[in-house]
Amino acid sequence: SAEVEGVPVAALERHAELTELVEEANWRYYVLDAPTVSDAQYDTWMGELRKLEEENPTLRTPDSPTQKVGAPISSEFAPVAHLQRMESLDNAFNADDLASWQARAERLAERDPGPYLCELKIDGLAVSLLYEKGRLVRGATRGDGRVGDDVTANVRTIANIPHRLTGDDVPDLVEVRGEVYIPVADFGKLNEQLVEAGKAPFANPRNSAAGSLRQKDPRITAQRPLRMIVHGVGKWEGAAAPRTQSEVYDRLRELGLPVSDLYRVVDDLDGINGFIEFYREHRHDPAYEIDGVVVKVDRIEIQRNLGSTSRAPRWAIAYKYPPEEVNTKLLDIQVGV
Ligand code: NAD
Repeated sequence: SAEVEGVPVAALERHAELTELVEEANWRYYVLDAPTVSDAQYDTWMGELRKLEEENPTLRTPDSPTQKVGAPISSEFAPVAHLQRMESLDNAFNADDLASWQARAERLAERDPGPYLCELKIDGLAVSLLYEKGRLVRGATRGDGRVGDDVTANVRTIANIPHRLTGDDVPDLVEVRGEVYIPVADFGKLNEQLVEAGKAPFANPRNSAAGSLRQKDPRITAQRPLRMIVHGVGKWEGAAAPRTQSEVYDRLRELGLPVSDLYRVVDDLDGINGFIEFYREHRHDPAYEIDGVVVKVDRIEIQRNLGSTSRAPRWAIAYKYPPEEVNTKLLDIQVGV
């Protein structure tokens, strides 16, 4: 069959087609906050892209969607450069994927990378908060990981985000990363209000959070039941640096930031799988939607050794649960996928 520089024409064409579909979906999801395909459909496209690139490595160029984070930001907000890059996460869909991730980390770290911190993957939108001398000076979306949208006025309206940090050891400067979300219980009410006002309802809680945070008028954001849970740090200066991920959470809690209690430090793959199975059964217990579990190497020193690819840390992985039938089917039917 026909080839261009060793790549079958059929693969080239499918790669171009998938790239276009994914880029269009990214724009609708990240910029317009209004996706028209389900996450499951999106993940299938990305899986096919990755497979094509594994078979034909020359297709894996730096501008492929598989090598990038998010999408370029819109011009509606001022751009903000993150001091430290905001990353995405690689995905695991089953126990084998998870075991390969662990084996790779062990090989690269040249030691057992355990223990691991297991926590919930909150289906919200990624936000970075910058505190200088303990004062909240900036809030930004992830954007493409390097530059995000300035949403400072909007994050200031979120009830559980402190404007000042507390405690004895406040860093001179800290970038705090987390998810902004709308609790499931409030999502239905918000959609009812929107429909009553003659406006379009949101497709799911994640989009309602993104759409509510990225409002030009912060007074509208202030009326939305947004909350944040923090799960990491970027740049950190002028205070004792934590040595483990769990210590990061203890420190963030002392600073007055909203940290989840639903995490657990485990020794090995068995422990990780136990956590994953527990929350498969208790997926709806938390007040927010989750789409999986995030597993992080607990020791910061090993995190540093493992480092990151162009888009995600090697020391963490997102285990994704299968999508919930009802919502995704509805969305796919609406758009005729
Ligand atoms: P991701 O959602 O797979 O994971 C990365 C993100 O998880 C991080 O940026 C982080 O903010 C977040 N996160 C949540 N809880 C966390 C925790 N406890 N610790 C660390 N991080 C946590 O990747 P992504 O790059 O944000 O988005 C890709 C996904 O978004 C796709 O797999 C798809 O589900 C969805 N998407 C859908 C469409 C669509 O059209 N439906 C389009 C684009 C993206």
